[in-house]
Amino acid sequence: MSPLLFDSHLHTPLCGHASGSPREYAQAALDAGLQGLCFTDHMPMPAWYDAPWRMRLDQLAEYIETIQAVQAEFAGRLEVRLGLEADFHPGTERFVERVLAMHPWDYVIGSVHYLGAWGFDNPEFVAEYENRDLGALYTQYYALVEGAARSGLFDAIGHLDLPKKFGHRDPLGAAALRALDVIADHSLSLDFNTAGWRKPVAEAYPAPDLTRQAAERGIPFVLGSDAHRPVEVGFRFTDALKLLQAVDARVVTYRGGVRHA
Ligand code: ZN
Ligand code: FE
Ligand code: FE
Repeated sequence: MSPLLFDSHLHTPLCGHASGSPREYAQAALDAGLQGLCFTDHMPMPAWYDAPWRMRLDQLAEYIETIQAVQAEFAGRLEVRLGLEADFHPGTERFVERVLAMHPWDYVIGSVHYLGAWGFDNPEFVAEYENRDLGALYTQYYALVEGAARSGLFDAIGHLDLPKKFGHRDPLGAAALRALDVIADHSLSLDFNTAGWRKPVAEAYPAPDLTRQAAERGIPFVLGSDAHRPVEVGFRFTDALKLLQAVDARVVTYRGGVRHA
């Protein structure tokens, strides 16, 4: 199966901030001419961490059953896979490891959404950027990304340059390149995440120069819309593929934790 039209970053209402049923996402994928999709909802974390934005641990079985029902319903028409978007937050690795062991996930994205207690991609807390030195912020952020890559817990790094979401771009760039070296060394892929085109920065994650740098290091990409509504499934994949093909990037998907070209 060609990985070119496969959406591997999708949420479900179980996370508390997405709408539309998973079967509506699958129907949207069919309507958009996609070959498949992989649900990667926000995984359960310890109760103290970011609780309003994710399913609880006692909802994990419901998540698995819901997606398995969609797999059965669309069998033969659409490949439906089941994964998670995990958070990398130092100190929670053992909890994450335990949850990841509860099911043979097709694909696990490792994302950094927090610097300390600050959820830096939350529009509610965007004012905090004014209190930060952007160079230091990105250095701190990419050190966490390196930690995620070294943890061995994840298949890919989510939305690589996420702190740019509201327009606060990386003034330095060196930390990002070091993180790419670590990602390449640990054979991870990168989430090519088209949601950035729906945000104030109006640019997919990663930025074009980082996409080229990643491709030069042999890092493959996994296409994802990060849809939180069925209408966002496959969002701007044609534009994404144009950018990826322009830098000779490899596009892959994951099944059972195994990379497929
Ligand atoms: Zn979300
Ligand atoms: Fe995310
Ligand atoms: Fe996401």
